[in-house]
Amino acid sequence: MVKVMADSETALPEAARGKPNPYDVALQQLDKAARVAGVSPAIRNILSQPKNEIIVNFPVRMDNGEYKMFKGYRVQHSNILGPYKGGIRYHEQVSLDEVKALASWMTYKCALHDIPFGGGKGGIKFTPRQHSQAELERITRRFTHALGANIGPEYDIPAPDVGTNGQIMVWMMDTYMNVVGFTDKNANRRVVTGKTLNSGGSHGRETATGQGIVHCIAEWARDRRFDLNGSTYSVQGFGNVGSNAAKILARTGASLIAVGDWKGYIANSDGINPYKLTDHVQKTGSVVGYPGTRALTRAEFFATSADIFIPAALELEIGVEEAKALNVKLIVEGANGPTETAAEPIIREKSIDLIPDILANSGGVVVSYYEWLQNKRSERWELEEVEDRLAKRMKRTYLSVTEYAAMKKCDWRTAATAIAVERVSRAYVERGIFP
Ligand code: NAD
Repeated sequence: MVKVMADSETALPEAARGKPNPYDVALQQLDKAARVAGVSPAIRNILSQPKNEIIVNFPVRMDNGEYKMFKGYRVQHSNILGPYKGGIRYHEQVSLDEVKALASWMTYKCALHDIPFGGGKGGIKFTPRQHSQAELERITRRFTHALGANIGPEYDIPAPDVGTNGQIMVWMMDTYMNVVGFTDKNANRRVVTGKTLNSGGSHGRETATGQGIVHCIAEWARDRRFDLNGSTYSVQGFGNVGSNAAKILARTGASLIAVGDWKGYIANSDGINPYKLTDHVQKTGSVVGYPGTRALTRAEFFATSADIFIPAALELEIGVEEAKALNVKLIVEGANGPTETAAEPIIREKSIDLIPDILANSGGVVVSYYEWLQNKRSERWELEEVEDRLAKRMKRTYLSVTEYAAMKKCDWRTAATAIAVERVSRAYVERGIFP
């Protein structure tokens, strides 16, 4: 059975660092983009609230025979451009406002790429690391059952996010299939993406988000005439996104010099092998204690001088203090929403480039779309085909964002969101608002 990845307990509770509400941050980003895009206040108002907010409370039998209650969420932000699409998070800090923010970013991410999907997100508030595989399976199946017809292959399509993986997606798929009927079972494979290869997943999906990040970095390096060979980078979060980005970026000759996760931070200015570090994390559950590295505090990690910083953990990790401390040329947002609004002007003043989440980490949903298409057509694409398509799409979208930003004289986040909001707006204008 596939091992559930180390989940994401946080060393510090959110409130202790005074993080803002993620949905407020999402709204601030929307407002700025809506102004630049010149969309009507009506469209801005529609996008400022999700269409549906589903909360389910459900009991699950634990291994010791006791029953425990769980709270699960699914937020469906927009489906004007296609079925709701977005990940499922298992984490103790999952909240309605967090899921609302994440769902809205999915709407903009899909629209930015012109993928025919809308935006959704879901999660369960608990710490998966504290549960056995059998309990995780029962929690997942019971959550899927509780969501019922609120998900579906042409309606709302979940995928992995923090604390979930291909095995969890396969349990969701199997539960959904067994509930909706037998004759069209195979037509329902695409109710989730990010599945394992054996059970209908796509080649290249597991590495897609990390690969997309590296495509963005390569485009940035070409535009800035920056040589990646011999450069340095740091990564916060070493799960699916952080570890794959680190491994793929290492192939350019860049060197990983600092990394951290829920348990702590480590550094080695001579470089850390991301492949061996992945093995260490699989064995021990954290990057901490990796041989040949020294321990850092979180503050020291953010002050570490490197060329590129990839936040790939949770949202709002870069506040004002972190932005002041950062000593890098480029931030590439692997995580969704890692940067507070108040930190952005500081980053700009320091002339640090920032490739925003909805562009930088969009490789995941792009290949999720390819997985969905393969399932729908009963096809299996070669890895090479998936990677070629992803590379072309990432480069095209990267170029569209930088060109738009130059034209409108705005930052890349605003440009990316504005392109997305314009697309959504055009659909509303053409279709009208019912009745
Ligand atoms: P994951 O569960 O595989 O890994 C999360 C990592 O973050 C772990 O290493 C964990 O230890 C670390 N972490 C958690 N809390 C932390 C904290 N407070 N400080 C430092 N590190 C912490 O999750 P993932 O799928 O890699 O997702 C990471 C981020 O990327 C999330 O923001 C997610 O929404 C985003 N994202 C994921 C995908 C995907 O395809 N999985 C796609 C797009 C965006």
